[in-house]
This record gives sequence, structure tokens and C-alpha cells, in this order.
Amino acid sequence: MSEMITITLPDGAEREFPRGTTGAEVATAISKSLGKAALAAKIDGRLADLSEPLEADAKLAILTAKDEANRQDVLELIRHDCAHIMARAVQELWPETKVTIGPVIDKGWYYDFDREEPFTEEDFAAIEKRMRQIIEKREPVTTETWERDRAIRHYEASNELYKVELVEAIPEDQKIRMYWHGHWQDLCRGPHLAHTGQVPADAFKLMSVAGAYWRGDSRNKMLQRIYGVAFASKAELEAHLHMLEEAAKRDHRRIGREQQLFHLQEEAPGMVFWHPKGWAVYRVLEDYMRRRLTAAGYQEIRTPQVVDRKLWEASGHWDKYRENMFITEIDEEHANEKRVNALKPMNCPCHVQVYNHGLKSYRDLPLRLAEFGSCHRYESSGSMHGLMRVRGFTQDDAHIFCTEDQIEDETARFIDLLGSVYRDLGFERFDIKLSTRPEVRVGSDAVWDKAEAALEAAVRKVTNDYEVDPGEGAFYGPKLDFKLTDAIGREWQCGTFQADFNLPERLGAEYVTPDGDKARPVMMHRAILGSFERFLGILIENCAGRFPTWLAPVQAVVATIVSDGDAYAEVLAQRLRDAGLRVESDLRNEKINYKVREHSSAGVPYILAIGRQEVEAGTVAVRRLGQQGQKVMPFGEALGLIAEDARAPDLRG
Ligand SMILES: [Zn+2]
Ligand SMILES: [Zn+2]
Repeated sequence: MSEMITITLPDGAEREFPRGTTGAEVATAISKSLGKAALAAKIDGRLADLSEPLEADAKLAILTAKDEANRQDVLELIRHDCAHIMARAVQELWPETKVTIGPVIDKGWYYDFDREEPFTEEDFAAIEKRMRQIIEKREPVTTETWERDRAIRHYEASNELYKVELVEAIPEDQKIRMYWHGHWQDLCRGPHLAHTGQVPADAFKLMSVAGAYWRGDSRNKMLQRIYGVAFASKAELEAHLHMLEEAAKRDHRRIGREQQLFHLQEEAPGMVFWHPKGWAVYRVLEDYMRRRLTAAGYQEIRTPQVVDRKLWEASGHWDKYRENMFITEIDEEHANEKRVNALKPMNCPCHVQVYNHGLKSYRDLPLRLAEFGSCHRYESSGSMHGLMRVRGFTQDDAHIFCTEDQIEDETARFIDLLGSVYRDLGFERFDIKLSTRPEVRVGSDAVWDKAEAALEAAVRKVTNDYEVDPGEGAFYGPKLDFKLTDAIGREWQCGTFQADFNLPERLGAEYVTPDGDKARPVMMHRAILGSFERFLGILIENCAGRFPTWLAPVQAVVATIVSDGDAYAEVLAQRLRDAGLRVESDLRNEKINYKVREHSSAGVPYILAIGRQEVEAGTVAVRRLGQQGQKVMPFGEALGLIAEDARAPDLRG
């Protein structure tokens, strides 16, 4: 008789099975329909093939397409199987193609191929069709563990030399796993779905093809990377494609060009040239943030951009981050060697220098130092994208120096401020993620316990709906990440709040305790917007270029209907400017409807039309963006109306 093991199901029920029973067999034993619907297993929380034998007592969950609790896992399985199925389809269609790697990425997957002839988007229909045929065959996905030599011989025989290289790179102590989708084989860690028919045939789409170097190294051969997206249902795919269409319509790079907000050029890659209108928006946002920070008890400072490498060595950045730093060398007077500096990639070490000036006592804590800190980081040219990913940017940065006991209160204050700022800027929804201690870390477990508990307790004061990412904290402390959701459902990680037990130690920050001893403060790194550049990109796309009046680059245009109104229009425009509004006049010899259309499509919130009647009566015809028709009113009333609407949210009564 075979030995029995105990399997605990998600509802807590325990069942006995012979050792070696597979997840698939357990699913079928529970019910025939579960056996059919089963996609994969979770054994003690680890995602696994349904065919994997259970060798010991374990907790077991059976994943199905309807599984809400394991939705992300199900999506990743589908995307992963899509990668294999696409590679099989490509090799069936173009047998000379060599396969390399094909990982899952956000919303989909890619696969890198080596083929002399370029793939084009015209090939996608044929590949998709072949993929559907493979899916319809419902061929089983099977797996085996191979000896290293066998795997190498196999791939040498089939002339798949990239795979030989991949096998050779797998550490000696790791197993070599092979997967088959029907007859087609690939080297893979798994896990996978049970058969090809479990990939929804109507919920994937190939999106684009691009060049990519083998192993990301420009000395290697350029491969062809085909990207695809996949979901659990057709409706989700359609929603995603619709979102992409919407995103293209509101692309901040196009709006930035059309509204003359900013530009980028080759001579300064990833660094923004702000034009008057874009800079006006930037400054309104900066002024707003400054007021919010001051009101929340922060003190603003300013620290140097170019800082000697010695400080970066002391902070640890020179060791860990140098590849991303812009380095400068200068012949210092009377010096024998060049002095090496770096443009600051972050503000933190400089803030500790400010903190370290003058003895600090517990009475000085918490000390909140804020800086709109201009930073530079080298990003690869391929990763840069308009304002969203740049090399030169300004953080709404601040560091809170506090005691361990103050962490919870500071966290709660921060979340409060962040939520209020996001609401003011038009984002109602944001999600919080808590990342806890990683394996490799500094600081005692007692300090980590305390800090993690403090962060979590503060989050719980606001919401019980937050995510915990175990082990994903920085080596120097736990952190909170804040992701906001924009108007078309995209998520953007902007805010961050990180405890740091390391930098105060490295840079010698301390304070005098009530007992007269010296102690280390905890340093909290925090940002709400992240960077002004990226956040403005998000803002532009969120409102599709139609800024709320307080942020609009041009808040009102005074437009004439007849040239008799020119002088009056100029007077009114100036009076609006005197009231602090951003105003243009449009005296062109064009039809008023033409002017209205042009300024409306540029997102100007108010258009004040001036005809003969208005000149005589001292009135204006006001059109509000997004509203039908116009309203004639005395100029003073219009001024009051616009001025009120143009007030920043924190200054409203
Ligand atoms: Zn795989
Ligand atoms: Zn920092």
C-alpha cells in the first residue's frame, strides 16, 4: 500500500491522497468540473504545474480562469503560454528562425527571434492565426527534467545555439527543465497551463516588433522582438486596446508640442526645454506644493548640484549607483590631480549635511527638510519617453529626521498630505503598497519590527485596502509606494515613503536624547509627485490637455469679433493680467467661430468675445470650455468669475 499524505485545501478541508498524487488528480477527485477547469496548482503558496506530484503534506489550491484570488497568477500563466505558443507558431511558419527567450511582461509577453528576414506587422495575422490553430488543438503541456549534457547535445543537434548558451549559463546546482506544447519544445522554468486550449483564443493580440540585442548587449547580434498582450477574456483585451487608443489621443508629447509647453532635443537627451506656457504650469504646481509643504511643517532648503565624489563614496552611491551618475572632472587651482564630482542623482546625502550642521536634540525632531531637488540620472536612450522618463528632473523631495517612536505619526501625516494633494490635482483614487524586509538588509530585527508595524498602523488609519509585498523593501528600510489611477484607468506609481536606518549611520547623523546620550535619527525619504517632469506628463494625459483653470497655461483669451473692439480687448486683457491671470488677446482678422474653435481645442478654459455691442455696453460674451453657448455679462463679473475659478484648491474658501 502506498504511503498517504494530507492535502489541505483553501477552505481548510483536509484530504488524504497517496504520495505522488498530482494537482490534476486532486482537482478531479474534488469534482469532475474542477478537474476540467483547473489551470495550475499552488503548492504551499508556490505556483506549480498541475502535473507536479505532491510528495509531502501540503496546502494546495487549484487555479481556474474564474479564480479572483489568484488572478495575477492566472494572467501570467496565460501570457507565458502565449510566449511559447507564439514561438512555436513562428518556427512552424518560418522553420529557419532561431528561438531565444520569451518572458512575461506587464499585460503580455515578448519573444526574441533570430531570423535574417525582418518580421513586419503584416506577418502578425499569419502568426496569430497559427497560434489559434495550436490553441484549438488543445495539446497537452508536458515537462521533463533533463541532464545538462543531454540538453546541450539536443540543442546543438537542432542548431539552437542560443539555447545552448542559455543551458550553459544555468548554475550547476539547478535543474534543466524542458516543456512541450504538443511536439514543440522549449527550455523553461515553468510552470505552465495544462494544455494549449486553456489560452483564450480571442483574448490575445500581437502588438509590435522591435530590435533587441541578444542578452541586451550591443556587442551581440541584433534579434527581433515580437510583443504581444493577453488577457483572460476578450472583453479585457478590448478594454485594453481601447485604453491604448485613448492614451494615444492624449499623448503628452503631442499635446506638449501643440500647446507649446516644452520640447526635447538631441543635444540634451532626456532633459526638458520648458517653454513659457509649460513653465507657467510647472511654476503653478511648484508654488502649490511649496504652500502645502510649508503648511505641513516642512522647511525648504537648497543643496548643490555638483558634489565631490567623496560624499558619494561616503553615502555608498559611488559604489552602487555610479553607472547612473553624470561625472564631471575639473582642474582645481593648485591641485595636483583633477577633482572628480558627480551631478547629484538624489538629494539625500546633501540633506544629511544640512542636518549635521549644529548639534541636534530630541527637541528638534521631527525635522522635515524639503527641496525641489534637481537631479540627474543616466537612463539608457531606449528607456526614455517624453516627460515620463528623463535624465534631468526635479523631485518634490523631503527627508524627515525623526525618532523610531515618531515614525507612525509621520507616516500618518504624510499619507494625509499625499491624499489631499492627489485629490486637489484631480486624482481621486490611489493604492498603497507596503514593502517589507528583504533577506539582505541593515538594522536589527527589532528596528525593522518597529518600523514595519508603524508604517502598517499608519496605513490602517486611512484604509484596510492595501497590498503587502513581502521582502521587497530596500536593504535600508521598509517602504510605502503610492500608485494613482488616471482618467483612463492607468496606474502610475508616484508617491513614496521610505524608512532608512542606513544613511544616518553612514553619514554620522545623530541627536541628543533626553538622557543626554547620542542616538541615531531614522531618516524618512519621501515624495508625493515623484518628479515634477513626470507628474506634469501624467497630468497632461489625465486631463487630455484640458487643464483645470488654476493650472491652465492660458486661462483666458480675449477675442475680438470686429476690429472696432481691438482697443477695448487689450484693456480687458491687461486688467485680467493685473488680477494675476494668464491671458492672451486674439485680435486676428478671423471669424469668431474660428477663434473659438482654435482656443477651445487648445484647452483654454475661458474665451471672452468682444463685438461692437460689448464695447458699447462694457460687457463681454463669456464662453466656458466644455459648456454650450455663451453668457453676456459686465466685465467685472467675468473677472470675478474667472479669478475665483483660477484659485488653487488650497486657497479656496
Ligand atoms: Zn515557459
Ligand atoms: Zn532621499
